[in-house]
Amino acid sequence: MPSATTLVWFRDDLRLSDNPALSAAVAVGKVACLYVLEETDEQRLLGGASKWWLHHSLKSLADSLKKHHIDLILRRGDAREILPDIANDISAKNIFWNRRYDPASVTVDKQVMSDLRERGFEVSSFKANLLFEPWDVHTNNDEPYKVFSPFWKAALKSNKMRGPLAPPTKLTAEKVTEDAGVLDKFGLLPTQPDWSLGFNPVWRPGEIGAQARLDRFLTENLRGYSEKRDNPQYDHTSGLSPHLRFGEISPFQIWSAVYAHAGGEPDKDGWKFLSEIGWREFSHTILFYADRLAEKNWRSQFDAFPWEKDQPAFLTWTKGQTGYPIVDAGMRQLWQTGWMHNRVRMICASFLIKHLLVDWRQGEKWFWDTLVDACPANNPASWQWVAGSGADAAPYFRIFNPFGQSEKFDPKGDYIRRWVPELSKLSSKDIHKPWEVSSSTLRAAGIELGETYPKPIVEHGPARQRALDAFKAIKKFA
Ligand code: FAD
Repeated sequence: MPSATTLVWFRDDLRLSDNPALSAAVAVGKVACLYVLEETDEQRLLGGASKWWLHHSLKSLADSLKKHHIDLILRRGDAREILPDIANDISAKNIFWNRRYDPASVTVDKQVMSDLRERGFEVSSFKANLLFEPWDVHTNNDEPYKVFSPFWKAALKSNKMRGPLAPPTKLTAEKVTEDAGVLDKFGLLPTQPDWSLGFNPVWRPGEIGAQARLDRFLTENLRGYSEKRDNPQYDHTSGLSPHLRFGEISPFQIWSAVYAHAGGEPDKDGWKFLSEIGWREFSHTILFYADRLAEKNWRSQFDAFPWEKDQPAFLTWTKGQTGYPIVDAGMRQLWQTGWMHNRVRMICASFLIKHLLVDWRQGEKWFWDTLVDACPANNPASWQWVAGSGADAAPYFRIFNPFGQSEKFDPKGDYIRRWVPELSKLSSKDIHKPWEVSSSTLRAAGIELGETYPKPIVEHGPARQRALDAFKAIKKFA
């Protein structure tokens, strides 16, 4: 009869199913579950939208554990101090957790692990949140890949896949009584003002919401994903990013569900979707080996880039008031729902970096604060990808034309109409460039440029040239 008590430290894995640390704990005896809201100088604090998500996700996890008569222990502060205290309090024999990959947290985990082992605890960590851990896939010279395609090819060949674990059915709880008000005391929800009202109709944080999203995606939207994923007016992507970010679902579960849905080898749409999961894996490898990915250019040649310190332009961008309809639509979708379509993320990021010459780090921070899926790997890696300073990045001189992108990917202007309603009466042709529309047409659509909708804050042609000139300034350092 198993008897040892194991403390399971939940982090970016807020789920019961396919949770190797939890399953291993259940196999050896009684279980106690802990989440620490980490607040240390080294680790990046969560942004506002992520905090909103975390509150609801922890609530959902606590409810699921409650069904097994387990109280989720919640603490805030430095895990290095909290873990030994709790482990002593409950007389735990083992401490188990699933691994994470941002260097600051890896350092914390190593310190906690060696400290706990010195104190006589058994400590084990597990692979749970990536299909391929950063050290699983490497070049013939034992180096990490810096380009996605060979990374993904090698990953798929590496034979590291496993099937997902079922949720434990019988959990035996170590008796812990937790004050029910701790989560509210964390103060993760916005109050004055409550800017999260637009989040509730869109999202259902937690494991049940994650599974429901995956099921809906597979039955309704996987077919046609490879073509329609780039069109923001269709709701054709999975919307799984915040669920993955907080580990409410694992990539192993997604992988296996895509195969099960296909009844074998996935088709073109299935593979395209799995390759996006692959980009997430790639970003985590980049993060793991990088020196402060959200702060430092991955290509140091960009250290000499002549960024503009244009704070008013940055604020205009954050508010979705640039006068470029597709950019404004994206920035407003982000503010209202905590999420933005991938194609539009690329357009908005490119506009900030290349048309306004604002340092990518400023944009990354804004996304970090406003995205419910703000991810320590995907967010900085994607910003650096757009800037040209990152791994396998778009070349700096490839500058998105915002209205060209909008005409191509939102041809009828439906996405713009949804998020920029003041332009909704313009035709599909006119809506992408209101500044070129005659004053009588604008008047008929109830628009006065500069009053009801802004004039463009920069002109595309000169802004493009300015960006190319700025790039020349760093080319000499290349
Ligand atoms: P789907 O198309 O359904 O893709 C499935 C999953 O694959 C996603 O949930 C995500 O985990 C992963 N994925 C998809 N595209 C990418 C990508 N380009 N890079 C890495 N992983 C990807 N993604 C985040 O999860 N968090 C972020 O903070 C984030 N910041 C971004 C910032 C910028 C400037 C850009 C251009 C992209 C960013 N992305 C980020 C990547 C991408 O936009 C989102 O993952 C995607 O829009 C999420 O929607 P989805 O779940 O419907 O995606």
